[in-house]
Amino acid sequence: MNYDVLIIGCGVTGAACAYQLARYDLRVGVLEASNDVANGTTKANSAIVHAGYDPLPGTKMARLNVLGTALMGPLCARLDVPYRNNGSLVLSLTEEDDGTLKALYERGLANGVPGLRLLSREETLALEPNLSPELRGALLAPSAGIVNPWELCYAMAETAVRNGAELMRSAPVTAVERLEGGWRLRTPKGDFSTRYVLNCAGTLSDRIAALAGDHSFRIKPAKGEYFLLDKAEGKRVEHVIFQCPSRLGKGVLVTPTVHGNLLVGPNAVPSDPEDTANSAAGMAFVRASALRSVPGINFRENIRNFAGVRANSDREDFIIEESAVAPGFFHLAGIRSPGLSAAPAIGLEAVELLRQAGLALKEKADFIDSRRRVRFHELSEQEKNRLIAEDPRWGRVICRCETVTEGEIAAALHSPIPPVSVNGVKRRVGAGMGRCQGGFCGPRVQEIIARELGLDPTQVLMDWEGTWVLCGETRKGDARQ
Ligand SMILES: Cc1cc2nc3c(=O)[nH]c(=O)nc-3n(C[C@H](O)[C@H](O)[C@H](O)COP(=O)(O)OP(=O)(O)OC[C@H]3O[C@@H](n4cnc5c(N)ncnc54)[C@H](O)[C@@H]3O)c2cc1C
Repeated sequence: MNYDVLIIGCGVTGAACAYQLARYDLRVGVLEASNDVANGTTKANSAIVHAGYDPLPGTKMARLNVLGTALMGPLCARLDVPYRNNGSLVLSLTEEDDGTLKALYERGLANGVPGLRLLSREETLALEPNLSPELRGALLAPSAGIVNPWELCYAMAETAVRNGAELMRSAPVTAVERLEGGWRLRTPKGDFSTRYVLNCAGTLSDRIAALAGDHSFRIKPAKGEYFLLDKAEGKRVEHVIFQCPSRLGKGVLVTPTVHGNLLVGPNAVPSDPEDTANSAAGMAFVRASALRSVPGINFRENIRNFAGVRANSDREDFIIEESAVAPGFFHLAGIRSPGLSAAPAIGLEAVELLRQAGLALKEKADFIDSRRRVRFHELSEQEKNRLIAEDPRWGRVICRCETVTEGEIAAALHSPIPPVSVNGVKRRVGAGMGRCQGGFCGPRVQEIIARELGLDPTQVLMDWEGTWVLCGETRKGDARQ
């Protein structure tokens, strides 16, 4: 076999597995269908590190959520990922909600969630003065937080690559063949053989399972839509503000983001696995629901709408197991919310499953478990001047809204997993994430990508394969015709 372990999919689940496996003397490969990592559900969610009172006690979801959330702060500190432990509040707005809060509190205690408290209306308003006049009380979960979900994925994937894991992008697995003692995975980039497979393909993980002859679960995707508001609204609330959950999900939340914006959403509607379009009806629902919790939100500050697709399955729990019909083929499927929060623990769980299956794990002596990314606007004047003296590109501001310099963009383009598109740059360094959403810096970013990667400008992509920004050359004079 060429590989010890091949991971299918590089969202936060696949990246967490690669990061943990790269600690050991193993040949690990990651096959990602898209041209970038974190391009599936991992880039479009609420970005909440959930405390863990929501999943039913005794489930993998409950155990891995609470452990993942405990691991998240130290992991983000090591790998330089934006994270804030701002706590969450579930609001009671009706008499029925009072009962739900008590049930969540009890469930949280059973799951081992630290520091939970039921607050009165006055105690809640003292923490969050902008809440609804209907407010009756809240459940405070101090261990909850917010994180940059795609940077968490990049950071773990980059660390895995720096430690020897091999990432193949634009390599969708299209066929799976059983070998003596392993598997062959077929992709347009070639065939790869391996002893073990980790199926981390998100909303498409049931299709991967089916390729291996396993039809034991189905993914039932459900879309969630969002408003992202300008930083002018970013201080409307301090905590993550939830409504009481229902059968359909955790309800519409209002939260600050680690970038200082306000995020409002999501709804929950059955969808296709890759349908991330926004709908007028969905947005109207989200807006009306959010205003019930936080009535003063100014939706005129909306700068972006987006949607993400949940990998809900026909089972009640995360599906983290070796296939019953395909030995050596492990599913990490149905990883719906709180999958982001649980990711650090899911990576450890995958390693444990492989160990139990017989994979020999010898730790590398030289594993690098750290990462640093320069964020120019956060540096002291002295540090800024030092960098500019070394390379003037550090002093050239490209994205005015977010103060992102050419130095940061160039560094990302030469990082272990370089972006290959304008949106890839945006997610790596924040250029285009601000109020104008790339209106000013987009063309400059395209120029820098073309120059640094040695591409013709017409080859620069907006996002995934085929999304070229330019389709031809404008001849001198054309603009005046
Ligand atoms: C609306 C919404 C809100 C959410 N909010 C939260 C939250 O606040 N907190 C939280 O903890 N969780 C949240 N979640 C859940 C969380 O986002 C997911 O659990 C997590 O992102 C799943 O990551 P993943 O790596 O399993 O899947 P993905 O990120 O979807 O990654 C799967 C990868 O597999 C690749 N792939 C697919 N098919 C193939 C193939 N054939 N070959 C190779 N690669 C393939 C895809 O391209 C993709 O990159 C939310 C989810 C949604 C949709």
